[in-house]
Amino acid sequence: MARYTSSACRQCRREGTKLFLKGEKCYSQKCAVAKRPTPPGQHGQARQRKMSEYGLQLREKQKARRAYGLLETQFKLTYNKATKMKGVTGENLLQLLERRLDNVVYRAGFASSRAQARQLVNHGHFLIDGKKVDIPSYTVKENQVITVKKRSHEVEHFKQVREGSSRIIPKWLSVNADNLTATVSALPARDDVDFALQENMIVEFYSR
Ligand code: SF4
Repeated sequence: MARYTSSACRQCRREGTKLFLKGEKCYSQKCAVAKRPTPPGQHGQARQRKMSEYGLQLREKQKARRAYGLLETQFKLTYNKATKMKGVTGENLLQLLERRLDNVVYRAGFASSRAQARQLVNHGHFLIDGKKVDIPSYTVKENQVITVKKRSHEVEHFKQVREGSSRIIPKWLSVNADNLTATVSALPARDDVDFALQENMIVEFYSR
């Protein structure tokens, strides 16, 4: 009998959507959401019921927080930053999340998941405009160039990245896989987020 032992897959099933937390497995037939799209637990299917407005808002917030792999405090800090920016708060929030260095490393195809990207950043494999940055929450800016350190090119993981990845690169990044370089050619827009999310519900959640 099929058994889901991964807490990452449980998170996706809890949110009822793919959050792409497990690298290549997420794009395969083995994806737990594709195989069994009900909430986790023995009574997951039975627990499906009409949710309150608050419940729906909470779920959207949790979905975004889990997809980007942030703790509540970090997520709330990002939200607070978004409220102080010009423009629409929900879109600002998504843009700030997309501009995190760990997310950029993932979206550029240098890591198979945001969790792996965070680990690679923590281990100091990346330079931004030639300077080492090992802070996953670092917010990248337009025209900045993210490169894998020369010495890290010999690491097996990066050798495989250079051999090619089938990942679709968002249009706000231009990537040279041979040189392991990604340039932020524009700031990410709302439509660049790679999973379904109603950011207005997150704003409503925090505005209560
Ligand atoms: Fe698991 Fe990835 Fe599928 Fe989520 S998207 S259920 S993490 S395989």
